[in-house]
Amino acid sequence: MAIFSKAIPKVLRRSVEAKDTLRAQPFFDRIRAIGHQPFIQIGIQSISKTDFLICSTQEELVEFADALWILPQRAKSPFLSGMHAALSLEFYDAGELFFKWCLNGDEGISVGIFSFWNKAHPLRLPLEFPIFAIFDPPRATQVSTPSKRAAALTQMLTMYHETTGNDVARWSLIEGLALGLSKFHGSLEEYATAHRYVEVALRYSPKSIHLRAAQHALDLKLAGKDVPDRLVKFIGADNGALIGRVCPEPFKRFDIGPSGETLVCCGHWVPTPIGNIMTQEVEDVLNSPAARKIRASVLDGSYKYCNHLECSALIQGYLPKKETVTEPVLRRAIDHGKLNVDKVEQMLFAFDQSCNLSCPSCRVKTIIEKPAIRDVKTEVVTKKLMPLLSGIKLLDINPAGEVFASKPSRRILEMVNREKCPDLCIDIISNGTLFTEKEWQNLPNLRGMVRAVRISTDGATKATFEKLRRLASWEVFLKNMRFLAGLRARGGIKQLKMSFTYQIDNFREMKQFVEFGKSLNVDFVIFERLQNLGAYTWEEFRAKAVHLSAHPLHAEFLETIRDPIFGQAAVWHDFEWEGAARLSESEAVARLNATQSIT
Ligand code: SF4
Repeated sequence: MAIFSKAIPKVLRRSVEAKDTLRAQPFFDRIRAIGHQPFIQIGIQSISKTDFLICSTQEELVEFADALWILPQRAKSPFLSGMHAALSLEFYDAGELFFKWCLNGDEGISVGIFSFWNKAHPLRLPLEFPIFAIFDPPRATQVSTPSKRAAALTQMLTMYHETTGNDVARWSLIEGLALGLSKFHGSLEEYATAHRYVEVALRYSPKSIHLRAAQHALDLKLAGKDVPDRLVKFIGADNGALIGRVCPEPFKRFDIGPSGETLVCCGHWVPTPIGNIMTQEVEDVLNSPAARKIRASVLDGSYKYCNHLECSALIQGYLPKKETVTEPVLRRAIDHGKLNVDKVEQMLFAFDQSCNLSCPSCRVKTIIEKPAIRDVKTEVVTKKLMPLLSGIKLLDINPAGEVFASKPSRRILEMVNREKCPDLCIDIISNGTLFTEKEWQNLPNLRGMVRAVRISTDGATKATFEKLRRLASWEVFLKNMRFLAGLRARGGIKQLKMSFTYQIDNFREMKQFVEFGKSLNVDFVIFERLQNLGAYTWEEFRAKAVHLSAHPLHAEFLETIRDPIFGQAAVWHDFEWEGAARLSESEAVARLNATQSIT
C-alpha cells in the first residue's frame, strides 16, 4: 500500500519540523480534548488564536461542506474551494481548483497542509490524516512554491490512500486531488508521475469519466502520441478546445434511467442525474439545479459533466459551432445565458432493464423486474410520462433492456397514438429476438410513428451472435430481421439500423457485418467501442477492449478499421484513431442532420 512513501520529496519531509509542531500545538490540544483525530481538521490561525472547522467522520459531511462553503477564507483559497468541490462530488471543478492552487496559491491567506504521520508528536494516538492550517493573515515566513504545494497535495493523497474508513469522503478527495495533480504534473510534462496518481485514484473511482480521460491522455503521451485537443485539459490547463461549440442535448432531452433517475444525455456519457421521476414531479426535474449546471457547462466550454472518451459528438467533432445555431432556446442560452427550458423535445426511455437475454457485455445474469416495482413504474408511465409525451417529438425506447420484455415499455407503446401525441416519432431499440411480425400486428397505433428501429447485434455469424447474445437463437433472430427488412422496404419504418459493439470476440467480423447489414436492407450499421457497464471487472474489460492502446491486439484492430468499407455514409462509427476510414466532418454533419430530422 505504501507506494507513495518513497516518492514524497525530501523537502516535504523536512517541512515537519519544530516550527510546524509549534503551529500544530492547537491541533494536538483539540485532538486530545475530543479523543480522536477528525477525518478533516481545519484550523484558522491568526496571531492570537486558532478556530476550528471539523469533520469528525463522513456522517458529518453535509454539515461540514455547508460550513466550509460559508467560511470567509474559502473564497480566498482555491485549495479550500477544491476541497469543497471534491466533497460535493464536483470532481472536474476540484481538479481545476487544486491545479490553480498549485500554480498560484491563495489570496491574502495561506493554507498549510501538515502531516504527523509516522512522525513524532505528543499524542498517544496515531495521526493518520493531514491537518490543514489556514494562516490568516499569511505568516511573513511562509514560503511556498508550486512544487511545494503539489508535494503537499501528494502527501494528502497519500495519507487518505493509506488509511481506511470514511470511504465516500476519502475517495472523493482522492479523485479531486488526483485530477489536480494530473493537470499539474501533466503541464510540466511529468506524465509518468501524473499517471501514478491517476492510477491510484482509479482504484477507488474506477468509473470516473474524468480520471479515465486523464489516464487515456497520459497513456497517449507516454506512448509518444498526440493527445486530442478535447483531452488536453485533463493533463494541463484548459486549452479552450470546446469553447466555440455548443451541445443541444441538455436543452432538449429528458432520459429516464432504470431507477427513475433522469438525465439529459446518454447515461454513460453524462452520468449526472438532474432528478428522479419516481420521487419528483416532472416540473421539478426539468429545471433542477443539476439541469441548469449541465446546460451551463456546454455553454462555458468545460463540458465538465460529459464523458470525453465516449461521446461520439465530442470524439468526431460534430458539435454545432455557436455562431451557426438558430434554434431559439439554444440561441437564447448562448446570447443571454438562459438555462431554463419550458419543455423538452426528446425522451429516452430506459426505465426498465428487463430483458429475455443476458448478454455478457451488459449483465452477468438475466434481469426481469419484480412485479411490485414493475407495477409502480407502469403507474409512473401512465400518470407522469404520458402527459409529457404528448408534447414531445422523439421517443427513444428502450436501450436499458428489451422493449418487448418490459411491461412499462409496452404500456408506452400501447398508449401512444397520433391523436394523443401529434408530433411524436419513435425510435425503437431492440435485440431483435422478440420483434416478431405478430408483435408488430398487435400495435396498429404505431403506424406512421416509428422513425427508426435499431437492432443491437454484435455478430455477423451464428457462433459469434449466440456467444455475445447469450440465450438468443440465430435462426429466430434472422427470421425477425427478414420481417423487419421487408417492413423497411414497404416504408412501414423510416430507418432500419444494426449496431455492433466491437471487442476481442467479434472485431474480426466487422467488415463482414457491413455486408450482413446490406443483405438485410439496413440503412446504417453502427460500430461502437466496448464500455464497461458493470458486467466486467476492469481486468476483464481491459482484456476484451481491443480499442485500448495497451491491448495486445490493438494493432490488428487498427489495421482492420483502416479498410475503406468503414468510410461509407452507411457506416457510423466512433473510430478516432489515425488512419481509420471515416467521413469528412462536413459529410458527417450533413448525415447527422438528415437522419436526425424529425419528420
Ligand atoms: S456527452 Fe456529448 S452528446 Fe451528451 S451532452 Fe455532452 S457533448 Fe452533448
